[in-house]
Amino acid sequence: MNNKRIIIAIDGHSSCGKSTFAKAIAARLGYIFIDTGAMYRAVTLYALENGAIESCIANEQKIEAMLDDININFRFNPERGASDIYVNGDMVEGKIRTIEVSNCVSAVSSIGAVRRKLVAMQQAMGRDGGVVMDGRDIGTVVFPDAELKIYMTADAMVRAERRYKELTAKGDNVSLEEIYENVVSRDHADMTRAISPLRKAEDAIVLDNSHMSVEEQMEWFDREYQRVVGC
Ligand code: C5P
Repeated sequence: MNNKRIIIAIDGHSSCGKSTFAKAIAARLGYIFIDTGAMYRAVTLYALENGAIESCIANEQKIEAMLDDININFRFNPERGASDIYVNGDMVEGKIRTIEVSNCVSAVSSIGAVRRKLVAMQQAMGRDGGVVMDGRDIGTVVFPDAELKIYMTADAMVRAERRYKELTAKGDNVSLEEIYENVVSRDHADMTRAISPLRKAEDAIVLDNSHMSVEEQMEWFDREYQRVVGC
C-alpha cells in the first residue's frame, strides 16, 4: 500500500453515518479521525449551560465573548477506538449527542466567530496529513486542496430511522417524528446559512448510502482510495 499520508475530507447531510464511515477508514489506514461536528456541538453545549441560548435562539454576542473560555480538545479512547471530546477538561462525548444540542447546534454553527475559531483548530490538526475529517465544510473551506473528497448523503427517513435506533438503544426518550424533523431542519439550516453553507465541492465524489451496508461502503472506499493514491 502507498505510504503517502493524504487528507480525506468527508462532508454531507446530518446523520448519514459520516462519522462511522470516517472512523472505519481512519482505522484501516492508521489515520487520525476528527469529528468536526463534535466541536460545534461542544460549543453549543457550553453556550446552553452558560445561558447564551434560550429556546434555541443563540445570543451571538454572548457566545462570541465566551469563545476564549472554551477550551476544546480530543483524547484517544482505546475502548471506542476513537477520540473523546473534552471541554475545559470535562469529557462531554455523551452530553453533546442529545436532541437538545442537536436542535440548537445549527444556530451556533452559523456564527462567523465560532466558525473562524473551529476552522483554525481543524486546519492545525490536519496540517500534516494522515487525517480523515468529517463535517459540512471540510472539502470546501477547511481543506479545499484535500486529495480525496467525499460527499455523503442518504434518504432523510432512512437517516432518521438509524439515528432513532441509536438514541433509543441508549435509553433516550425520543420519537421518530422529532428526529426526522431535526434531520430535515438541520439540513436546511446547514445548506442555506450565509457562511460556509453545506455544499458538494466540485471535485467531491458522491456516496449515497441509503441502501448500503458499512462493508459495501468500505469496498466502495477502497476503490476510490486506490484510484487517488495508486497502488
Ligand atoms: O456532524 P454533526 O451532525 O454532529 O454536526 C452537528 C452540526 O454542526 C451540523 O448540523 C452543523 O450545523 C455543524 N457543523 C458545521 N460544520 C462542520 C461540522 C458540523 O457547521 N464542519
